Amino acid sequence: MEYIDCDVCEQNMNAFIENKLVGEHLWQFLTHVESCPDCYEELEIKYLIAEALGRLENGEAINLKDELAQKIKLTKRAMYFHYFNEDVLRILEIVSMIIIVYEVFGFLSHFFGIVF
Ligand SMILES: [Zn+2]
Repeated sequence: MEYIDCDVCEQNMNAFIENKLVGEHLWQFLTHVESCPDCYEELEIKYLIAEALGRLENGEAINLKDELAQKIKLTKRAMYFHYFNEDVLRILEIVSMIIIVYEVFGFLSHFFGIVF
């Protein structure tokens, strides 16, 4: 099995991304990429660009728009829930204060024999 150099590796990058690289060529390519950080980095960039372009061609950019809208909606809902919880806590605080005041008055009325 022959080993390939960086030039050959670079020539094969697009074929690899398009799943057109097979057999011995694929093995040589993978072996080189695994042991060559420069080619790996180059492949990474090429792959990311190809993937991004692929998404655009498949109309997935529209989905990305939906994803963003969905994200905004969910974030807003989470924030609303957060504020709702704060309101509930404030109400519970007030209610517990009323109960305490009521108990204290009840105790005092019992102690002094006064009926409210
Ligand atoms: Zn290389």
